[in-house]
Amino acid sequence: MIIVLLGPPGSGKGTQAALICKKFGFFHFSTGNILRKKVKKKTKIGKEIELIINAGKLISDKIIIQIVNSKITEKLDHYKGFLFDGFPRNLDQAKALDNLLNKHSQSLTNVIQLYVDNEEVLKRLQKRKLEEKRQDDNEDVLKSRLKVYLNETKPLLDFYQKENKLNKINGMQTINDVNNKINDLILSLKSTW
Ligand code: AMP
Repeated sequence: MIIVLLGPPGSGKGTQAALICKKFGFFHFSTGNILRKKVKKKTKIGKEIELIINAGKLISDKIIIQIVNSKITEKLDHYKGFLFDGFPRNLDQAKALDNLLNKHSQSLTNVIQLYVDNEEVLKRLQKRKLEEKRQDDNEDVLKSRLKVYLNETKPLLDFYQKENKLNKINGMQTINDVNNKINDLILSLKSTW
């Protein structure tokens, strides 16, 4: 089963992804985590990636798609499914994902949108800034990340709606309630899958 989790920064994607992957034995396919690991290695490419992340911009599609391609190959046989968190982030990446999955005789099962309104997103990101001390959680970078989400990632909702693959879940409930709703949804997808 291949699921994409979509939502703005601060919508709880990372938290929910970890819970879902633990329960269903999926690989937590977080492009943000993969990139942060590369940054830690302090290689030339790692340093370039760091600058882009810290500006709140997107890494080039070419690099991201290469990373995703090699991870799919590496992980496909070892997990019951994939839960994409932070990928795709624009239309070209969404089309590339379809092609990559196709190449591996797989296809996207469903997309789960975590809906959180702007006010709540800002509140949560302020809190995360204090707790996690992520370099890309400062105010200017956050503005840029939210803008990128609205301009580039949000149009994916229409794209997946047209493919009849979109399910919307209210992310402004407790972690537990959101998780229960997602679990129910995945179980229902499993029975038809
Ligand atoms: P995340 O942890 O998903 O919020 O990602 C943190 C940062 O990593 C983003 O703001 C981007 O700079 C970069 N990034 C993560 N995933 C992607 C992606 N699919 N395409 C381009 N850049 C990405």
